[in-house]
Amino acid sequence: MKIVILGGGESGVGAALLAKSKGYEVFLSDKSALSDKYKEILEKNDIPYEEGQHNEEFILDADEIIKSPGIPDKVELIKKLKSLRKPIISEIEFASRYTKAKIIAITGSNGKTTTTLLVYHILKSAGLKVGLAGNVGESFAKQVIEDTFDYFVLELSSFQLDNCYDFKADIAILLNITPDHLDRYEYNFQNYVNSKFRILQNMTPTDHFIYFQESEALAKELMEKTYHVNHLPVSIKKEVEQGAFVQNGIIEAKFHEQIFQVEIDQLPIKGTHNSINASCAVLASQALGLSNEQITEGLFSFQSVEHRLEPAGIVNGVSFVNDSKATNVDSVFYALGSFNEPIVLIMGGVDKGNDYSQIAELVASKVKALVCMGTDNHKLFDYFGKKVPLIFDTKSMKEAVETGANLAVEGDVVLLSPACASFDLFKNYEDRGRQFKQAVKELSDVK
Ligand code: ADP
Repeated sequence: MKIVILGGGESGVGAALLAKSKGYEVFLSDKSALSDKYKEILEKNDIPYEEGQHNEEFILDADEIIKSPGIPDKVELIKKLKSLRKPIISEIEFASRYTKAKIIAITGSNGKTTTTLLVYHILKSAGLKVGLAGNVGESFAKQVIEDTFDYFVLELSSFQLDNCYDFKADIAILLNITPDHLDRYEYNFQNYVNSKFRILQNMTPTDHFIYFQESEALAKELMEKTYHVNHLPVSIKKEVEQGAFVQNGIIEAKFHEQIFQVEIDQLPIKGTHNSINASCAVLASQALGLSNEQITEGLFSFQSVEHRLEPAGIVNGVSFVNDSKATNVDSVFYALGSFNEPIVLIMGGVDKGNDYSQIAELVASKVKALVCMGTDNHKLFDYFGKKVPLIFDTKSMKEAVETGANLAVEGDVVLLSPACASFDLFKNYEDRGRQFKQAVKELSDVK
């Protein structure tokens, strides 16, 4: 059987290694240049590849195609493969065929990485043999070659779920669904919702489905369709029979007879959104049989994740917070809700068709100054110009941080939470976050 892999990043190269180890004829093709590191791995393992082009003769002859989640269905090659009825799967689907480990799969529009790392950390601290894969860390496929883990915690994007068919999770966490990536879903939100719900495919009533029940689109889908799986909702509004309830500063999670409680103030990750993420992680841990002591120990020893409401330093009594990963409006909504202090907000970048109405009220009540940072800030000026006392136009991180520092007084927070993609001024959100931290460091060096 001939397997062709489209895309030579971490997941593609991992899939190539797995396919090769299982005795398939493998060919990897990438339209862009491959990194030296991956070329070396492919060569060392005698896996033929091409870069900078897709040779259709080879590709169309494949028995199965493993497609990188970054390649949209609308490209000509994929259309051709589809018309030839070639099976196109994701690396997650392929790897899941070769593991006996229990799968904890996590998706949502926001909070995937934080929750995935938290679940992984709790299980690992409890001494379980657990692997971490999906959108974070090393490729899932590469890690199942040896298949030494009893559990895998997987962060899954909608693109990865789109090409899953027989994949089945034992525990699924669906954090929320808000509009994102609509360009890949024919600008139809329901297509994106359907894609997220694929995480429940093949699950049975003894498997567990953990979800935030006040996420509107998610709740609507559950009203309209029945999913035969054990439901464990998380709520911040009302008590639940089974599941978790966040109220009066306490998370209470009930799984069968086990009741777990923790004070939110004691958690290392802050904000309502993180209470929801933590609630999901607690329920998954309970469902896997962990004791309350084990869960507490894991929760308390978790380190906050870089670029997600990450403390970036205090200069002259002003706290600087790096939330560079906030690339959509919903995450800014939660970021603003995480502070009681007056906020100087740095926002802007590449707007993905943002609707700012969700944060209009919060910005008006909490933001004392808005520092717009991007090559084109006119949409932010048009929308927020009359809603905030002060608004500034900046074109670089250094300028934005210095402007923010000048506007803030002791006790304020300068928050980078852009609501936008980063590639007008930066390589990616990590680069943006690092430049923010560097600019804050330079401030403290000066003062
Ligand atoms: P993802 O992997 O889904 O992009 P991250 O954990 O990297 O999620 O967080 C991305 C952004 O979303 C961060 O700015 C974070 O503060 C915010 N966020 C985290 N969890 C949630 C949540 N449950 N709901 C809304 N926003 C969240």
